[in-house]
Amino acid sequence: MTIALARRYRPRRFADLVVQDHVAAALRGAVAKNRVGHGYLLTGPRGVGKTTAARILAMALNCEHRAADGEPCGECSSCLKIWNGSADLDVVEIDAASNRGVDDARDLRERAMYAASQAGHHKVYIIDEAHMLTREAWNVLLKILEEPPPGVVFVFATTEPQKITNTAAPVMSRLQRFDFRRIGPTAIQQRLRQVLAAEHLDAEDDALVLIARQADGGMRDALSVLDQCLSFGDGILTAARVRQALGLLDDEAYGEVLAAVADRQPGQVFAIMDRVADAGADLAEFAGGLAELLRALVMRHYGAEPEGLPESTRSLIAEIAPRLAPEDAVRMLKLLGEAEPALRRSANPRIGLETLLLRWAMMDRAVDLRAILAGAVPLPAAAGKPITERTALRLEPRPVSSDRGAATPVAPAEPTEIGLRAQGSGLTEATLAATWSDVIATATRQSPLLGQALAHATPKLEAPGMVGLGFGPDSALFQDGAARQLAAVETILTATFGTPVKVKVQAASAAAAATPAQSRRLSAQDARSERLTQLRSRDPALDAAAKALDLELMDDG
Ligand SMILES: [Zn+2]
Repeated sequence: MTIALARRYRPRRFADLVVQDHVAAALRGAVAKNRVGHGYLLTGPRGVGKTTAARILAMALNCEHRAADGEPCGECSSCLKIWNGSADLDVVEIDAASNRGVDDARDLRERAMYAASQAGHHKVYIIDEAHMLTREAWNVLLKILEEPPPGVVFVFATTEPQKITNTAAPVMSRLQRFDFRRIGPTAIQQRLRQVLAAEHLDAEDDALVLIARQADGGMRDALSVLDQCLSFGDGILTAARVRQALGLLDDEAYGEVLAAVADRQPGQVFAIMDRVADAGADLAEFAGGLAELLRALVMRHYGAEPEGLPESTRSLIAEIAPRLAPEDAVRMLKLLGEAEPALRRSANPRIGLETLLLRWAMMDRAVDLRAILAGAVPLPAAAGKPITERTALRLEPRPVSSDRGAATPVAPAEPTEIGLRAQGSGLTEATLAATWSDVIATATRQSPLLGQALAHATPKLEAPGMVGLGFGPDSALFQDGAARQLAAVETILTATFGTPVKVKVQAASAAAAATPAQSRRLSAQDARSERLTQLRSRDPALDAAAKALDLELMDDG
């Protein structure tokens, strides 16, 4: 493979311009109808075919065997010379990035006065990076475009049309503008597949997905990257070889980061960073990959399908999604965005990235904040107040006999069941246990928080129509949450069992109840909840602004 793929497979016909059909059709039609203008402006991201389109236009205008539909033959000597970019009297390519001075523009004007080399030929000026031209240069060009010599065509290509509007608005009005689209990953993969087939080569789908992602919308870059990967080994092009050639990390490293965050394991971060550094990966790139994953995670949550991800990444996202709320992913993206400029500039980006990952892993979760703001946390502020009836009820030790059901005397339970059946109710110890997951699901639909609280409860039929919810000492948070929403729980149970159900909440173990509320040690979370509680009591409107508030408070954590 001596000629680079990007060059060998550069389009020779309008029809070959991938994705830019709208431009191709307009230019081809203009050629076919002999209605080509004097000035064109081709805009769009780099590598999407602007210069190539300009060359095809020049080829079509000067082709010896042009088709009736306006396509150049791509084979005649004129076509080949233009396509190769070799010296041609009729086609002049100027890179404005290196020739932006007024002298060049004057030179241009003098040269533009000469007609094309042969009758029927067009003189085509292709000016790349046109936004780099100076105001003076544009003034000269404006004069030419106001009275264009016959057969002269100017094609300006730029990635930044806004700059031209700023420096040369009058010129813009004399140009026909075509906006080139970014080439999507799927289109790039298809084209890579075609090129590989023409080369009698094969590649894994994920390999092409990775290349397309690397190329970021540019076909020329995609082909260059493909070249680079192919030169890295033989046989079928695998995703592993692409990663190796491009110095990309495998999905495992990304998965480990997200798992460390989801499971709140800041300690894992150091080992992950060692691995990433050992692999010689570009840390800014790694951060970019994480951003892409998080974005895909959020998109997936809202039912959108992120394009251009390898299968392995898709399954990774599916695996992580249930453990990482979209709010958290957004918050992580925010922190990443803040850290990124420093990451790119820093002499020691590792420290920066490590700090970012630690912040992620230590970050409070959206679900916790919802819990705090919904009041489903112990309220230390209440510790000094007299114990209210509800508090007393909550702290009431759960009878040891009912604990886990093991010591429950069988005899007293049966009459209860019989008694309930006699009332025509479906609520029994057995049906309660059997339908509890449904109750949790119903509650979750109403409020994810309530569902979570109920998932931490052990339901127990205390008396006919009376359900006790037992909470372990570790579930004080959920116990309180459930206690605050007793009415909602009662409504759900009443609807589920078709009979009025009362609910009481109780601590599952005597040990928890024996601990006086006053002496409970404040955890960091308690402290935060206290802060929030105080804030909320001072300003009831804060409840409504809960979401906005949580972002601010969380970032402190
Ligand atoms: Zn030709």
